[in-house]
Amino acid sequence: MKTLVSLCKRRGFIFQSSEIYGGLNSCWDYGPLGILLKKNIESRWWKSMTLRDDIEGLSSSILMHPRVWEASGHVEGFSDPLVDCKKCKGRFREDQVKEKKCPTCGGELTESRQFNLMFRTFMGPVEDQTNQVYLRPETAQGSYVNFLNVQTSLRKKIPFGIAQVGKAFRNEITPGNFIFRTREFEQMEMQYFVSCKEDQKWFDFWKEQRLNWHLALGTTPNRLRFHEHKEQELAHYAKQAFDIQFEFPFGWQELEGIHNRTDFDLKRHQEFSGKNLMYLDEEAKEKFLPYVIETAVGLDRTLLAVLCDAYREEEVKGEKRVVLKFAPHIAPVQVAVFPLLKKEELMQVAQKIREDLSHTYYTQFDSAGSIGRRYRRQDETGTPFCITIDFDSLTDQKVTIRDRDTMEQQRVSFDKIKDVIIGQQTT
Ligand code: ATP
Repeated sequence: MKTLVSLCKRRGFIFQSSEIYGGLNSCWDYGPLGILLKKNIESRWWKSMTLRDDIEGLSSSILMHPRVWEASGHVEGFSDPLVDCKKCKGRFREDQVKEKKCPTCGGELTESRQFNLMFRTFMGPVEDQTNQVYLRPETAQGSYVNFLNVQTSLRKKIPFGIAQVGKAFRNEITPGNFIFRTREFEQMEMQYFVSCKEDQKWFDFWKEQRLNWHLALGTTPNRLRFHEHKEQELAHYAKQAFDIQFEFPFGWQELEGIHNRTDFDLKRHQEFSGKNLMYLDEEAKEKFLPYVIETAVGLDRTLLAVLCDAYREEEVKGEKRVVLKFAPHIAPVQVAVFPLLKKEELMQVAQKIREDLSHTYYTQFDSAGSIGRRYRRQDETGTPFCITIDFDSLTDQKVTIRDRDTMEQQRVSFDKIKDVIIGQQTT
């Protein structure tokens, strides 16, 4: 992980938050390449959901009525048992401490107590209990409270879903492993409203769809697996739950959860708000609260999985090559364009080719240093194609395209460049 964290910093993927002030624990900033990678992953998720006829998008606010979190069960139940070290004042999740001694200094630990994971703040100038609000710990509740708004405004019929991407906040006791567990993170969640008679069918459907989505990102199949929640692991709202896990360098860990949340959330919001949230099935002349099949995946966690999966160290002609083998369609930069030398005539042609490609792809222009060094830089950021314009290009109208993975080079005429790149599924 250390190597990956330092590569991410060196190459502009991820920086420590507020670094010049010494950083802020577990908070990270996405740099120019990191945000491109993140947007590519997010956009694939968003399209995979909202290009379907049966799913609509939503963007609800981070601050919500405090009663929402009473109804959802978060005020009462969203907590971890916490122990403190009496000596070094370290804080740990009780379930992560094996002995009754502090894992850092061996000191004595306090009795465990419940610690609510929601961040609290105040709305308006008066900081008292009545003005207290929470930063949302998940996006899902925004979709439940808008269930009828979406359903009636777009005249949706069940089954249909609501998809959201957005920030969530949890005051985790033990954040760590880089961007794996942080206190501020982004979720991509979809709530699919179904009849209770069809919950199993849709649960199985979404479970399969979601695994396929991770595979389509290019993730190595044998680094992904399902983990079924046993009775005692199930959340208070869930009838059935599977995690999709990825094999991180620190072990198999959850990337995504697929949950059958039954009608728990709508029922609770109906009860707490006093509003009727029943769905009217016009054909069957029936009113009921739908069941919800939820797919909830962390965007930052997926990005970490993608980075871990892509990272390779190879030996090429006795030298170490570090390369990020992203699938071309999610690579932050897809094509790098190099004029062989900083000569006016080469620069002009190279700029023209770059401009032409930049309508379709993320591109970078690099004219500094030897071609070999430029290849190495692009390998480290995972650019699948490098195009070099040399003096022959001025007469034969051809460029050299170098493939990141095979390192093979081919001469291709100007008008065939896109065909070579498209052949590698870059969009
Ligand atoms: P965990 O068991 O790892 O704490 P969870 O089961 O509480 O996760 P969910 O509430 O199901 O997680 O949230 C859905 C997804 O959001 C998770 O699968 C994960 O990818 C992401 N996620 C949850 N908590 C965090 C966090 N603190 N930092 C980064 N991503 C997170």
